[in-house]
Amino acid sequence: AFTLSPGALAPGSRIGILGGGQLGRMLAMAAARLGLHAHIYAPEPDSTAFEVCRERTLAAYEDEEALARFAESVDAVTYEFENVPARTAALLAGLRPVRPSAAALAVCQDRLIEKEFLADIGVATVNFMQVDHAGAMARAVAQLGRPSILKTRRFGYDGKGQVLVREGADLAVTFRSLGGGPAILEAVAPFTKEISVVAARGASGEFAAFDVCENTHENHILKFTTAPARIAVQTAAEAVLLTRAIAEALDYVGVLAVEMFVIEPAGGGEQLLVNEIAPRVHNSGHWTLDGAATSQFEQHIRAIAGWPLGATFLNGSEVEMENLIGEDIYAFEAILREPGACLHLYGKAEARAGRKMGHVTRIRR
Ligand code: ADP
Ligand code: MG
Repeated sequence: AFTLSPGALAPGSRIGILGGGQLGRMLAMAAARLGLHAHIYAPEPDSTAFEVCRERTLAAYEDEEALARFAESVDAVTYEFENVPARTAALLAGLRPVRPSAAALAVCQDRLIEKEFLADIGVATVNFMQVDHAGAMARAVAQLGRPSILKTRRFGYDGKGQVLVREGADLAVTFRSLGGGPAILEAVAPFTKEISVVAARGASGEFAAFDVCENTHENHILKFTTAPARIAVQTAAEAVLLTRAIAEALDYVGVLAVEMFVIEPAGGGEQLLVNEIAPRVHNSGHWTLDGAATSQFEQHIRAIAGWPLGATFLNGSEVEMENLIGEDIYAFEAILREPGACLHLYGKAEARAGRKMGHVTRIRR
């Protein structure tokens, strides 16, 4: 028989994953490699994760009967996106271990709650103000100045759900341009670089971070990630410490990513401001599939299975990940011909503008 740590899943156990996008797909593939069986639950029939799992449920996240059947068919539940409805997470948590917890998820799915949490644990962010209605804009803008950035509290991604509040812009019109729901106004961070830390915390509190990486966006969508980030050694160490403090305060189990701004004050040095926390595997960790001893996907599966975490060291001296967005995918033959380039395509039917179709990793030895 297997010798298992307390709470650990046996090989051959079933992992339920909410969400059927490329992150769910790569999690399912990592689970399969470790002899675990993925069950993907997603409401979109063309979910790209459906084709690489043992079981699939095509149902709405509000379908309580489908959720109960799903829970019954798995040994633990995780998710690939942070917008799992609170009720869905609570219902599943009553039936099976849900990792990371519904409480950690709740903090990370609302930008205001997230920033208040960071302030509570002493982690620096940009200055921010709650804006619940158009009438609250004037005071917030007076406080934070222009330009500042208005963001919806929930459901934003790839720069969607945010707008720059410019000099002279009408505040009520700007507020309504985001749909009129609860929002947060943020001061603009005068950053020189954007970095992220992808790390894992195990069920026993074990913690492991991948190399801090540097991110470049195009049209608000991640385009390139380079690891290691070109920042001071002490700054990288500080970034990892902040991430660990966040993971511990959330009693987090699984992989998380913390996005940060690097500020270089006139007096010299580098300061960090945390931008956001992703309670899941993250696009800026895709390079680990080819460029690290353990991939972020395997690391997440290990963590939620209660298994030992894997080593995180870089394979090589530098790794670059390039996202293939929309029509970028049409260059796939050239990438296949490129010596050493590692191509990953997600199997999505249509190369729509702004859609993440795949990525390529290049490793410098
Ligand atoms: P999401 O990634 O969910 O779309 P983010 O809050 O990470 O939302 O914003 C996307 C990008 O917009 C960031 O990576 C950064 O480039 C820019 N950005 C967001 N907030 C700020 C800010 N307060 N100051 C400066 N740039 C910002
Ligand atoms: Mg972001």
